[in-house]
Amino acid sequence: MNAEINRQLRVLVVDDKAFVRTMTGRVLQTAGVENVAYAADGKEAIEYIKRANPRVGLVFCDLMMPDMDGVEVVRHVAELDHKPAFVFISGANAALLSTAADMARARGFLVLGAIEKPISIEAVRAMLAKLDGVRPTRAAPASLSLTPADLQRGLDANQIVLHYQPKISLSTRSIEGFECLARWQHPDHGLVPPGQFVALAEESGLIKPLSDRVMSLALKQCAAWNKAGLSTKLSINISAHLLVDLGMPDRIAKEAADQGLDPKQIVLEITETGVFRDAADTLDILARLHMKGFALSIDDFGTGYSSMEQLRRVPFAELKIDRAFVNGAGQNQKAKAILQSSAALGHNLGLSVVAEGAETKEDWDLLAGLGVDVVQGYFVAKPMAAESVLAWCEKWTSGTAAKL
Ligand code: C2E
Ligand code: CA
Ligand code: CA
Repeated sequence: MNAEINRQLRVLVVDDKAFVRTMTGRVLQTAGVENVAYAADGKEAIEYIKRANPRVGLVFCDLMMPDMDGVEVVRHVAELDHKPAFVFISGANAALLSTAADMARARGFLVLGAIEKPISIEAVRAMLAKLDGVRPTRAAPASLSLTPADLQRGLDANQIVLHYQPKISLSTRSIEGFECLARWQHPDHGLVPPGQFVALAEESGLIKPLSDRVMSLALKQCAAWNKAGLSTKLSINISAHLLVDLGMPDRIAKEAADQGLDPKQIVLEITETGVFRDAADTLDILARLHMKGFALSIDDFGTGYSSMEQLRRVPFAELKIDRAFVNGAGQNQKAKAILQSSAALGHNLGLSVVAEGAETKEDWDLLAGLGVDVVQGYFVAKPMAAESVLAWCEKWTSGTAAKL
């Protein structure tokens, strides 16, 4: 722990009970924090955070308070121009603490965690240590403020490239396929991830040219791998915005045929949130893609709406469980329950169940225990450039797989 940082850090303790404030303050001082301030309710806390100079760096906030509860405090502090980090202190149950922490993160706060009462010196030290760890990288990855005109230029200059991430069978460890993930090779910003430009494309009407580019690159790559002796499936993300384009199934089918590909090699991943914008046209498109032989996958399963209805109406072949329920599920009862139920649901419907976002051996083992069919995630490999794929496959089949 960095004692110097703790000496300079101003911590505000917010709790309606005087003895809890005093206790927390004492524990903080023992942990080396010299600058502790107190507020007996939310209103006082907000006033203090507004005025304090030097700024409040960290707030220890009680969740259950009579006038304004901790959730409301976070909501009001979010409106200020200064955003301190938060630790929640509470006798509340773990599920509520975790909801509160997610809420604060969604409002843009750094949340170090929650401490149950009575507060121990070890717990406080652990929180302060986390603050040391994150401080240098505190800023969120800068949003690049790219414009539609930039993206148009990027498309014109062929700067969209695809990276490929393997999908592995849990029972046989064989390579089931790859998911292609778009990146923008930007001359000034380097390799820009899709989080920075897919939504921009969707909002600005550029999603069609972007998707056309992705589709064409992906199909060409798949054909090239076939020639090189790697006959594997390729998964392609389909934006919900394309599910209104009735000509799309014929175009993709023609392009696949032009490349000499069997549509059975192609999996189209569709996020469940996107499926029913216009039920008639969407079902028209999905039914025809299915008839042409493409496999349909319901992507990010568990994060969208009305997914049951979609599972009933759309001929999906694969259910892809979102990584929110996969990574670390072993330590999170709720994530584990959702994971388990989603896998069972997929199997009961006769679908292949894929889990994305497996980062550790523990994730892998849990998924194996649940009978999940296919795994994708950093534990196996991060997305890689097309040029690296053949060598990776070679390495995987000749040794890595056996070590799992
Ligand atoms: P997605 O379809 O859920 O893709 C999986 C994302 O999870 C990828 O992020 C991948 O790099 C990441 N990932 C894989 N394994 C792990 C892991 O073990 N841990 C963690 N933390 N992350 C992992 P990426 O490449 O940044 O893509 C983000 C999203 O952008 C994709 O989410 C997809 O919705 C969208 N996207 C990517 N390429 C395309 C595209 O060509 N077209 C469309 N419409 N959307 C795309
Ligand atoms: Ca996907
Ligand atoms: Ca996902």
